Amino acid sequence: MVRTLTAFLAFLLVSCAPVSQTIQHAILPPEEEIRIGKSYTPSAIAENEGLYPDEEVQSYVRELGMRIASLAPRKLPYRFYVVNSSTQNAFALPGGPVFVTRGLLLMIENESELAAVLGHELGHTNRRHHARYLEKVLGLSLILRVTSALIGDGSLSSQLLIQAANIGASLLALKFSRDQEREADAFGVEIVSKAGYDPRGFIGLFEKFRKVQKERPPAWLSTHPLPEERVRNVSSMVHRLRKPNMRVDSERFRRVKEKLLKTKGSFDLYEEGKRLYQEGRKREALEKFKEAVRLFERNQMAHIYAAVVLTEWGRNREALQHASRAVDIDPNFFWGRFVRGVVLFNMGSFNESLRDLVVARGLVPAFADTHYYIGRNYEALGRYREALRSYENALRLASGKEPWIQDAKQRYDRLRRYVW
Ligand SMILES: [Zn+2]
Repeated sequence: MVRTLTAFLAFLLVSCAPVSQTIQHAILPPEEEIRIGKSYTPSAIAENEGLYPDEEVQSYVRELGMRIASLAPRKLPYRFYVVNSSTQNAFALPGGPVFVTRGLLLMIENESELAAVLGHELGHTNRRHHARYLEKVLGLSLILRVTSALIGDGSLSSQLLIQAANIGASLLALKFSRDQEREADAFGVEIVSKAGYDPRGFIGLFEKFRKVQKERPPAWLSTHPLPEERVRNVSSMVHRLRKPNMRVDSERFRRVKEKLLKTKGSFDLYEEGKRLYQEGRKREALEKFKEAVRLFERNQMAHIYAAVVLTEWGRNREALQHASRAVDIDPNFFWGRFVRGVVLFNMGSFNESLRDLVVARGLVPAFADTHYYIGRNYEALGRYREALRSYENALRLASGKEPWIQDAKQRYDRLRRYVW
């Protein structure tokens, strides 16, 4: 399921490459940049398996991030999120949002290393690296057309949906140039030092990346390559800016780290379950998801996958319990809303299903499956015109691998004969 979205975004990423012809050097207004970052935040969270479901962990990273960001020259609505992904990654979206994965936090050993990660990402935002990419590569007129449509309820025309998906896919896989990485490092070292954090956090972080690189290359390195020259540049800056008694660690960091270590077992089981599910070993997968929930009840991804397996088997009452629990844990999480919508559809609760799926569509507007199930609900409720439009969107957005494509085509053709 998550893989579907990833494959889908990757597909669009490839197909969106040729847009780069018309280069415009107009400046993307900050309000638009902020709007883009906000619009794609739910997609970034969905791609990274949800927000880590613990307020203490979230508020710790948020407060540390805000303390550093308050010294940044660009005054933006900065936001900091810890996402569940086990990959070791951090990234930012234009206009303020910054994301750190659970996997990266597990790797980091003290607060100054986390400050380094956040400082570096704030560097990309403050040097307008995302904004410049949007201006130059995608073209300002396209961006403005899509962002003005994105403020609606997600019921965009299929053409705008495809463009919106293109922008999202490229933002989530954005690679910066070597110069931009150097700029973000320099910005980061300076701002964390100004905030009182020991800039040697950068060196500790780089060393860790280099160590794990040999076994399993961290995701962060694929978008932030780490050549020797980058390490040398940072080291010389660090020696220049370091003062005695700078902050290295905190009690709060250690408490947060302890919490993450305690739930690691649950997320490991979930990962195992996901692998078994993808191999078609669903019975064993369900055992893992249930065990994951027993170890950490708020593991929303384990609930969601359990719901998927159960509804595939027609055990919809149990599926609904797991899906509803995931929605309770985070009502604004795309996968929770989407999967509960599918379970409710399978139960014949079309109005309730529609409510969840419309929320899901508002969060991630360009996911084809949501449109297909919205269409199925509308059709079941006799709202044929809306059904027709939803099938059309689903078919336009589909990657070609969805199991429902033939069904959607048949339904679309049949409805078209009756609806004008
Ligand atoms: Zn970077």
